[in-house]
Amino acid sequence: MVPGGIDCHTHMELPFGGTFASDTFEIGTRAAAWGGTTTIIDFAVQKTGENLRDCLDLWHAKAEGECAVDYAFHMVMGGVDEAALKEMDALVDEGITSFKLFMAYPGVFYSDDGQILRAMQKAANNGALITMHAENGIAIDVLAEQAAARGQTDPVYHGITRPSRMEGEATNRAIQLALVAGAPVYFVHLSASEALERVAEARDAGHNVFAETCPQYLYLNLEDHLGAPGFAGAGFVCSPPLRTKEHTHHKDLWRGLRTNDLAIVATDHCPFCMKDQKELGKDDFRAIPNGIGGVEHRMDLIYQG
Ligand SMILES: [Zn+2]
Repeated sequence: MVPGGIDCHTHMELPFGGTFASDTFEIGTRAAAWGGTTTIIDFAVQKTGENLRDCLDLWHAKAEGECAVDYAFHMVMGGVDEAALKEMDALVDEGITSFKLFMAYPGVFYSDDGQILRAMQKAANNGALITMHAENGIAIDVLAEQAAARGQTDPVYHGITRPSRMEGEATNRAIQLALVAGAPVYFVHLSASEALERVAEARDAGHNVFAETCPQYLYLNLEDHLGAPGFAGAGFVCSPPLRTKEHTHHKDLWRGLRTNDLAIVATDHCPFCMKDQKELGKDDFRAIPNGIGGVEHRMDLIYQG
């Protein structure tokens, strides 16, 4: 017997790139239950310019009465400013204790280093946990723009323009900021050897640094999946991207699970249909909605691994 699983990283109905993740709270949590997951922690989302409190209320309204399993929320902070930092205290008091920041997606979710430091200082003070999407989004956007200008528009370039070094760099930067702020930090969907090395180093030094990975980074790769012929690779576009099998990423992540440098396997469940959704990026990989499914299969995949 295996106890009911907790998937602490899902995105039901996430608005992204002009569309919504195709699983509603109702459908997505049925899939979770079918696969042995009895609790999900989804993300209420504040985009840059929106009010934190309003966004949380909106997500409560989406989920209420719809879910087949237990659920809770992390809060995405896409606009760290004085108002949001103040609201953070109130949210912590009512049980929203984890806040996600993005070092990727400039103009949508992105926080700069100053915003990250401020949020971490706040977390050090109110006991919240900062969770981090660690990829250097500013540099990645330059690489993506240059690739598109060269006519490299196939889905595989989504992966090629998001080098694993950019995840390693961002991971290191976030760890240093967390140490300065005196706050713990938790990395969502860690995918790369370079990032794992930084996390392992910090943990060996006794710091409160934690990381999750996802089944897709353990089982799928850039060449066979993201690089599938034609437009099929679009189905595997997620961020961070699937990593090359020519490197040690996959082997290192499995080892990270054994050594507890990776504490958690979550899914980042965020499916989009090929038709009308992934197809938005038919002529330009930058317009492909980022995300793949997994909530139904996680328990099985990890048990088998
Ligand atoms: Zn996510």
